[in-house]
Amino acid sequence: MSEAASPPERKLPRLEPDTAFFWTAGEQGRMLIQRCTHCEVWQHPPLPRCAKCGSEDVAPQPVSGKGRIASYTINHERWVPGLEVPFVFGVIELAEQPELYVFTNVLAPIDSVRVGMAVHVEFEQHEDVWLPMFRPEGQSA
Ligand SMILES: [Zn+2]
Repeated sequence: MSEAASPPERKLPRLEPDTAFFWTAGEQGRMLIQRCTHCEVWQHPPLPRCAKCGSEDVAPQPVSGKGRIASYTINHERWVPGLEVPFVFGVIELAEQPELYVFTNVLAPIDSVRVGMAVHVEFEQHEDVWLPMFRPEGQSA
């Protein structure tokens, strides 16, 4: 592996058995979201059973990684040492289903962010965690 630039400090999730897939799928460059095999509804965060039909037949499936910004906040709080502030924390509605939301950082200049913006996922690796974050379409790192 080549030397990569150190990513900025982040609060990292604990890898629990039911949610680890969400935090590690980025290793394959894709986002996984739990889906009910019975009624095909997506749900996030993952649950032991489908919130709609009650089926326990739920499993992670790949999504497109595309969505739009449903809402966002600008954060000025330096939650951990080294965290760059201010940053944008967004509610991303995934393209797969209305009201299927992921809460995470939006990688964009704070004054450029708008509700409704089209965004796509990218991953920031910290050891065994690949944090999904979203960047506006047409903007690159
Ligand atoms: Zn279901």
